[in-house]
Amino acid sequence: MLIGILLLGFSAFLLAAIGMFAAPLGMGAGISPLYLAAALALFLAIGLSMQRNLVRLRHALNLSHRKQRRLSATSRIDPLTGLLNRATFMRSLDKALGRWRGGGPAVSVLLVDLNRFKSVNDAHGHAAGDLLLVETARRLSTPKTAGTTVARVGGDRFALLLEGDVGALPESVGHRMLEDIAAPVPIQNGSVRISASIGMAVAEQPQVSGNELFRAAEMALGGARRSARGKVHRFEAGTEEAVKERHALEADLRRALDEGEIVPYYQPLIALDGDRLIGFEVLARWQHPTRGLVPPAAFIPVAEEIGRIGELFDKLLVRACSDARGWPSELRLSVNISPTQFAEPQMATRILDILAKENFSPARLELEITENALVDEVSSARLILTTLRNVGVSVALDDFGTGYSSLRHLSDLPVDRLKIDRGFVESARRDEEGWRIVRAIVQLAGTFDLATTAEGIEAPEILATLRELGCDIGQGYLFGKPISAEQTSLWLLGRPLPTALAS
Ligand code: C2E
Ligand code: MG
Ligand code: MG
Repeated sequence: MLIGILLLGFSAFLLAAIGMFAAPLGMGAGISPLYLAAALALFLAIGLSMQRNLVRLRHALNLSHRKQRRLSATSRIDPLTGLLNRATFMRSLDKALGRWRGGGPAVSVLLVDLNRFKSVNDAHGHAAGDLLLVETARRLSTPKTAGTTVARVGGDRFALLLEGDVGALPESVGHRMLEDIAAPVPIQNGSVRISASIGMAVAEQPQVSGNELFRAAEMALGGARRSARGKVHRFEAGTEEAVKERHALEADLRRALDEGEIVPYYQPLIALDGDRLIGFEVLARWQHPTRGLVPPAAFIPVAEEIGRIGELFDKLLVRACSDARGWPSELRLSVNISPTQFAEPQMATRILDILAKENFSPARLELEITENALVDEVSSARLILTTLRNVGVSVALDDFGTGYSSLRHLSDLPVDRLKIDRGFVESARRDEEGWRIVRAIVQLAGTFDLATTAEGIEAPEILATLRELGCDIGQGYLFGKPISAEQTSLWLLGRPLPTALAS
């Protein structure tokens, strides 16, 4: 409209100019109304066409602005979960630190990492993995405290920026989050459960940058994943050292796995109705060239984390089957299996292949699983264990009473025996309360038609009482410590009474 008026004005100005120019030449009288009308029409047409072009231009500009806005939103937001992405989180963190330096609220960063997310992806498919991430994002976004910014900063890693008083607050937020994440997530064929680890860092030095605070939270997360899955770890001085040490251990373990430095040790299992040796528990030992004999607690969790526990299990099983070839054929082997291995659907087939190749009867093999394997991977655990049990492998629930399985698992899952945790057997030596627990476990096992093995028998009086209670199998330093294959062969040749093995 404005442009039309301008054009009309411009036309009138041009005509007037022509009139002024023509008059002195004596042409003024010659300008006919027809000429005036034609000129006016021409200017109007030009004006209209320009206006249409301008409208088109404005439309195109609008579109481009909208596209730009959309683009800048996608560069700020993670498309799968709708949370902020890492770059935006880092900008928000820098701003929050700026406010804090100016007297604003304290700033903490919480990094939440899902444990064994890869296993869910592998076992249930990427669609289920995506669902799990979206649901975790939703749970993390429900308001926990004022001033929380939530972002997805990696595949299965989330970050929270808390602005508020320090003290216990960030820890309590973290613990609530772990509880929320642990609730089952419905997927297409049932549900999955996942746990998480949380690393946390609180800004303390005014000069700390966003990147430094984030890195401190990453280091604390490393600590949480290393030592206590499912816990909240706070960054502390020394964490950096621990992280370096852990990297060195990881590299060393990869080398040790390649070079076969991890070998099986054997601890006798004794039937308590007559002190018969019935087999051995296979316990991993790392024969380190400089550190000496490294116990499994130091490297099994690392092997799990770097995804090489299945390979370690296979190597130990092959070695144990071949060691046992020289021993009496009635002796059985009990092998520990890590919960993470149940995420691998081919596990049962791989075990059976090894047994076939090593010509070791499945009836001579017992798998020791922990209760957490049943909780984390209940459906795949049931399938794998049923397949193995159908061909004669038996299953023991290790460290019973220390995990999270429910009584339903005892009747529901393919389990043959409960192993009473060493902690209970030890406490039975000290007090009546400990005895009550051991007695209750033996009775519970009886109710579900399960056999029992008591771990950690060190004293003759404990052995006597366990026998009275009706416990089936005993294991402990009283009978013998775990020893190498060579030592076991020698011991078997001498065949001393099991009780003489105490060391
Ligand atoms: P676990 O399966 O409960 O094994 C029993 C642990 O108790 C062994 O510790 C054994 O040496 C110890 N023990 C047995 N009797 C006594 C006793 O009378 N007194 C004391 N103080 N200790 C006793 P170890 O060998 O250090 O193994 C620790 C844990 O590491 C095992 O607990 C098992 O959960 C895990 N582990 C060992 N080998 C493997 C493996 O090859 N794969 C997996 N996934 N885990 C393994
Ligand atoms: Mg065991
Ligand atoms: Mg145990």
